[in-house]
Amino acid sequence: MKTIIKNILVFSFVVVAIAAFFSLYQHAPLQKEEKVRIDTLVSSVVKEEVKSIEVRGDSLHIERNDGKKQVLHKEPQESLTELLRHYNVEPQKISKIAITVKDQGTAFWVNTLLTILLPFLLLGFLIFIMARQIQGANNRALTFGMSRARQIDQKTAKDRVTFKDVAGAVEAKEELQEIIEFLKDPKKFLSLGAKIPKGVLLVGAPGTGKTLLAKAVAGEAEAPFFSVSASEFIEMFVGVGASRVRDLFARAKKQSPCIIFIDEIDAIGRQRGAGLGGSHDEREQTLNQILVELDGFEPTTNVIVLAATNRPDVLDPALLRPGRFDRRVIIDLPRIEDRVAILEVHARNKPLAQDVSLRKVAERTPGFSGADLANLMNEAAILTARKNAKEISLDALFASIEKVMLGPERKSHIVSDKEKKITAYHEAGHALVSHTLPDAPPVQKISIISRGQAAGYTMNVPAEDRQFRTKSEFTAELAVLLGGYVSERLIFNEITTGASNDLKKATHLAKRLVTDYGMSEHLGQRTFGTREELIFLGREITEQRDYSEKTAERIDEEVTNFIKGAYATAQKVIAGSREKLEAIVQLLLEKETLEREEFEAIFASTTPEQASSAS
Ligand code: ADP
Ligand code: ZN
Repeated sequence: MKTIIKNILVFSFVVVAIAAFFSLYQHAPLQKEEKVRIDTLVSSVVKEEVKSIEVRGDSLHIERNDGKKQVLHKEPQESLTELLRHYNVEPQKISKIAITVKDQGTAFWVNTLLTILLPFLLLGFLIFIMARQIQGANNRALTFGMSRARQIDQKTAKDRVTFKDVAGAVEAKEELQEIIEFLKDPKKFLSLGAKIPKGVLLVGAPGTGKTLLAKAVAGEAEAPFFSVSASEFIEMFVGVGASRVRDLFARAKKQSPCIIFIDEIDAIGRQRGAGLGGSHDEREQTLNQILVELDGFEPTTNVIVLAATNRPDVLDPALLRPGRFDRRVIIDLPRIEDRVAILEVHARNKPLAQDVSLRKVAERTPGFSGADLANLMNEAAILTARKNAKEISLDALFASIEKVMLGPERKSHIVSDKEKKITAYHEAGHALVSHTLPDAPPVQKISIISRGQAAGYTMNVPAEDRQFRTKSEFTAELAVLLGGYVSERLIFNEITTGASNDLKKATHLAKRLVTDYGMSEHLGQRTFGTREELIFLGREITEQRDYSEKTAERIDEEVTNFIKGAYATAQKVIAGSREKLEAIVQLLLEKETLEREEFEAIFASTTPEQASSAS
């Protein structure tokens, strides 16, 4: 880019210079000269009004006594004196005029030469520019094979990341502690004959803090940190990736002890030969180069490679062999305690209102990653600033949960009264079933304000994360999913497209109960089908049947049975407490959003018999 601008500048400068040069010989008068005819000149000469005449080639520039300037073109052959004599002007009169003859010779030659030479000059100039550009490309080609890894030098970096900035992830930190010790004091380990680990694989869902942990390891060890995303190795040309890998490791070795962090290693580390058609030469060469580098480390080279992935299953086994990425650190989605801790880390520089309990926020955010939680805190701060408030309230935090989860509210989205009513019955159906079934989680919030794709939503989350889930919980979840559908059908005797997403989720869940969890009574304790990923034009999952046609039919039947059962449960719950459904709908239409307390108040106001008849 810079060179282009420079070229344009040089080019325009030359053009301006040439133009200026020409204008010198353009006889461009500064003052306006009046064009006159010969007889005018002759009569002025006779009247002695002419002060001077300058002859420039064939043009005569006349200055009169009154200061007026005139110009006249004569025939080329005649001289000025001859011309005047022809008109019988007396010689004494002529001699009174100061006649100067400007030598036209050089200007003439320069002019003609330039008109001939200019095209050649321009051509030469263009060739010159082009040559320079090609040279530039060559220079770039030299740096092309260099790695673009970013380096952070821990000793100078002000905002050094340490384990203090990583909340939760206790086990991961413990495992990485060893790496830090290796980096800090390699001799201690070497003197005992221990081998320093070369590669550590950080495995975890996106946003769980893999990059953050890698940085923190470097920060704790005060070692330089090279970070690169695996996809950056790959360019259009075969061999570039490998040369970048070589360059990166060479740079790192000079700075050892240090850490190389390769993000998304699965981009190059996928199983070789797994692709369909086409060669994956470039990827393979890059991968091979990484393996070569890892294998070629001297025992004393103190460079440790941390690589991140969320798909360890697709990695080439060659990467995972001993002496390569033989250590794995698993980073799970944060559990509730960790979520509180992560929220605390990100609340450090934010003023929270007195009543804020981060635990309550954590309770409502199962399945959120560290990045989601960081995002949530940030959204809450933005929301608070926009309201011109000074402290972040619990409401702002809760509102941000939904924003992160479902996208921004679409209040401007105009919904007709009828649609609103349908949405209210739909959500009330979900909520009522979720509240009533003992195995379903309590309702945290219901809303009929549309958000992202959803017309409304019901948030029900368990207070605790659970490792295992039971069949009764799954059947309850199915019933809750169908609650919206059942309610719409019961009230309007009609079904809308709004329930289609619920049905899709329910079907998917029911299928997993049968094929993955062995929860079907009739089909028994086995799984059906194996999933395999084909790496072909991105991602595509195909399922391979390892069962007969007949079994396939029975699986379908069982899935349908699960759904039918859930439908019956939801139907019983909703038909059994119609007046509760109406109460929820009324309140929803009035307030649009109900918090847990408001929702539960509806049930508190009933007599015990009514409450028990509902369950
Ligand atoms: P990954 O590399 O796993 O995709 P990152 O390390 O890039 O995830 O995490 C993104 C952001 O999420 C971090 O910059 C940080 O703000 C936040 N984050 C993730 N995990 C944690 C954690 N355990 N403690 C504090 N912040 C976290
Ligand atoms: Zn629904």
